[in-house]
Amino acid sequence: MKEIDDIKVTESIVNRYFEEFSEHTEVDVAIAGAGPAGLVAARYLAEKGHKVAMFERKLSPGGGMWGGGMGYPVVVLQEGSVDEIKKVGVDVKDAGDGYYTADSILSVSKLMSSAIDAGARIFNIITVEDVLYEKERIRGVVINSSAIETIGLHVDPITIGAKATIDATGHDAEVCRVVEEKAGELETEKGRVLGEKSMWAEIGEKTVVKNTREVFPGLWVTGMCANAVMGAPRMGPIFGGMLLSGKKVADLIDSQL
Ligand SMILES: Cc1cc2nc3c(=O)[nH]c(=O)nc-3n(C[C@H](O)[C@H](O)[C@H](O)COP(=O)(O)OP(=O)(O)OC[C@H]3O[C@@H](n4cnc5c(N)ncnc54)[C@H](O)[C@@H]3O)c2cc1C
Repeated sequence: MKEIDDIKVTESIVNRYFEEFSEHTEVDVAIAGAGPAGLVAARYLAEKGHKVAMFERKLSPGGGMWGGGMGYPVVVLQEGSVDEIKKVGVDVKDAGDGYYTADSILSVSKLMSSAIDAGARIFNIITVEDVLYEKERIRGVVINSSAIETIGLHVDPITIGAKATIDATGHDAEVCRVVEEKAGELETEKGRVLGEKSMWAEIGEKTVVKNTREVFPGLWVTGMCANAVMGAPRMGPIFGGMLLSGKKVADLIDSQL
């Protein structure tokens, strides 16, 4: 090999990044937030042949799953959902009574790699700050560099077109909050984000799947965002519902596209 050329290193990064980015300015599905629910949705949709771009504000995708419960890197899954984590190659331990445990770090890693292997593209350090709203339908996301957002620079964002948009931003339901403020009423009891309720895993785990739906033309919710929008409880470090919600939103969108 020739001597290392620093400029060649720069060109290699820039050329590849912008080649891949320009392939994703118009996609089938744009996903805001790369937590566990969004990652599962991305994998299923990509496996079905849809072009998927995920935008994640933080450096590390994976959302709130890394730390398990209170920083102990173990998550709990229950019967009926555990296959979703086994499917991506995570070994679980039987904790008895229908509960299973998984290493949270391995779980996030496998959810990420399986989504990428299926063909989904994760763009990190990018924040979804608004939506593209045309002809009474959400038609994509408006994004900016998280660094620009963090410093608070007044720099205009850019737009990504999408046939379907998923709000997978977790507790904050950031995309839905923008939509209720700027575009119109959400399909909830009061036409807006109802806000999550205190911890109650038994109910939260059921409702997170039930609440996974299209809440505005072109906009679907998944994961903790679904419960936040529909006014249902949180559930802490049991993750079965998140994974099943990701699968459900993928099925709903696939059948509509
Ligand atoms: C950093 C973090 C720590 C958490 N810690 C705990 C905890 O200790 N105990 C507990 O009970 N629950 C915690 N949670 C929440 C819990 O883990 C969630 O219930 C679960 O992870 C929900 O999964 P999700 O896929 O719906 O969304 P999340 O795992 O919350 O992932 C949402 C992702 O969306 C990204 N995001 C948010 N807004 C935007 C935007 N506008 N543009 C782009 N990306 C965006 C976030 O950075 C995050 O990666 C935490 C969540 C996060 C994000």
